[in-house]
Amino acid sequence: MHLDKTILEHLMHFRDTDYLIENIHLFRDINHENRQLIADIIKDCAIVKARAGQVVLDPHSSGARLFIVLKGSLGITKINEHNNLLENAITQYLPGECVGEISVLDEEIHSATISAMTDSELLVIEAETMWRLIDESNGVARNLLQLLSFRIRAANAQIRNRQKVGEFYRQLSMVDGLTGLHNRAWLNSQLPGMVEHAQATGNALSIIMVDLDHFKRFNDEHGHLCGDDALQSAAKILNAGLRPSDFAARYGGEEMMVILPGTTQNAAVGVAQRLCNRLSKTKIFASDQKPLPHITGSFGVATLIEGQDTKAFINMADAALYRAKENGRNQVAI
Ligand code: GH3
Ligand code: MG
Ligand code: MG
Repeated sequence: MHLDKTILEHLMHFRDTDYLIENIHLFRDINHENRQLIADIIKDCAIVKARAGQVVLDPHSSGARLFIVLKGSLGITKINEHNNLLENAITQYLPGECVGEISVLDEEIHSATISAMTDSELLVIEAETMWRLIDESNGVARNLLQLLSFRIRAANAQIRNRQKVGEFYRQLSMVDGLTGLHNRAWLNSQLPGMVEHAQATGNALSIIMVDLDHFKRFNDEHGHLCGDDALQSAAKILNAGLRPSDFAARYGGEEMMVILPGTTQNAAVGVAQRLCNRLSKTKIFASDQKPLPHITGSFGVATLIEGQDTKAFINMADAALYRAKENGRNQVAI
């Protein structure tokens, strides 16, 4: 225990001062007789002082007891191994509220570290006393149930929130910052599954490897920023020409990959041809609306063959791309 046991007074005493039993959430809305009973049960409970920054409950503190804040405030905190406060509390417990109610019930260790945010006074209710209160007062049992359901809802909301934030960052980490296409990490995580699925079901699967033509020269002549703009335009053209079931990802540099599930070689060549034409014919603009010279791309099509793994599949598309370059660029090859 990290607390100084400095005051040991009776509840009846502090009822006469500014501590009112009605102000304690756990003892709210309880009739007069019951309140007397409660006062009687908790009359020997200790009142302790915690200085600002002092740890009241942590996963190492022994003994199940509930603390009711009489003065000051407590908060869930993060501390390092030297007991230094790392982060200020977001969840705070103010006078009338309690902490440690779950551990008092299940006698498990605390899941969080709770410290005094300001100099505080706390009423300490040992597990045994808490169970007596539950046994003898329906009102206390009811209030405790209400408190627990509130805690469960708050915890659920926090979990949902964390899931949302996690999903947001996961999505973000799968998107290429420049083009908005899926990135290589996404491709690495998704393509093997698609290949496996196609192999298992016998469905067709095709990919198109796209590489912009003479892009080094484009950068040299117009600057890297215009190169970025051109790359963005090319990505948009690719993406806009696809069905909702298709995917476009930035493979790296000025290389992009289009994934066409359920698409045979003939159909994939048709898609590649259409994208190739569109890319070479579309006027592209820099982000300041300045027109840029036309760009073209070379397209290598591969259609999954039986027994082929992801690596061999990509190599096949790469080889087709190389042929498109060899044959003079701005064209499709298989
Ligand atoms: P090829 O037709 O044979 O593909 O010629 P290339 O010049 O496009 O081929 P190479 O692979 O030699 O050069 C690719 C160039 O693409 C080099 C690099 O500067 C440029 N590049 C790659 N990523 C980016 C990018 O994010 N932004 C810009 N502006 N340029 C990029
Ligand atoms: Mg390249
Ligand atoms: Mg290139």
